[in-house]
Amino acid sequence: MLETVAELVGSLVAGRAPAAAGVGTPGGVDSGGRVVGEAANIPGWPGTELGAAVARACGASAYVRNDGNLAAYAEWAARGGASRALLFVGLGTGIGGGYIEDGRILGGVDDKALEIGHAIVYPEGRRCACGRSGCVEAYASGPSIGRIAVELSSGYDTPLARLARSGAAVNAREVYDAFRAGDGLAEAAHRIAAEALSRVIGSAIALLAPDRVVLGGGVMAGAGRLLEDVAALAPLYVYPAASEGLRFEPALLGREAGLYGAALYGAAALLPRDELFALSARALERFTP
Ligand SMILES: [Zn+2]
Repeated sequence: MLETVAELVGSLVAGRAPAAAGVGTPGGVDSGGRVVGEAANIPGWPGTELGAAVARACGASAYVRNDGNLAAYAEWAARGGASRALLFVGLGTGIGGGYIEDGRILGGVDDKALEIGHAIVYPEGRRCACGRSGCVEAYASGPSIGRIAVELSSGYDTPLARLARSGAAVNAREVYDAFRAGDGLAEAAHRIAAEALSRVIGSAIALLAPDRVVLGGGVMAGAGRLLEDVAALAPLYVYPAASEGLRFEPALLGREAGLYGAALYGAAALLPRDELFALSARALERFTP
């Protein structure tokens, strides 16, 4: 995998001389750009000297951060300084997140802050890939939304229920396609995801006091009413004054926020903030949802 990364970097550079590189990765990252902790979907990845490998491949400094933190960074930069404290939650194969205050990533030890997917919302609840039970990721990630629909399908006689019973693969995409057509089973799976997400986001609001909550990731690309419902529900799980002036917004850079975040974070090491925002505006122009 590291060889593939190095090849890709080499083909991107292709004779140019970049001043810096930005790289995102699942898992934690130490100050030397080495992957640490766990990267659930990539066995054997922790311990990888990712920063050194990319720096070698492109001949410039490489800045490595957790991918959820970089997605949050992109969404902060894309707002051109309009947000002082931005909480990002990315819903995809797993659930990641990030928090940016005054343009700085809140990383914690080894960049492991805001692993919000493993915040436990229902102790004794559904098993999570991390080995614990009741993490929000077990309710609101793309695969989890699909699995919940399959598990509930015997109680419904709707197109989605029939699809689930046929043994076809059901992911969030199938659930939200059906949701938009008014499917009752899809609505039930959606409500479970929205409720679990709202509980965790409510607690995160109490802990972090953001002025923006941004929902992104692949699931959000087609996710019916998820943003609206979380915006309505999450304030019920935090003391009332915490939600005053708080805005819930969709990701401006969709599922590519992590990619743009890596590039912008690398650039931020070299650029004053107004030039960073100008670069972010160009990224936004290039991005097509
Ligand atoms: Zn977990």
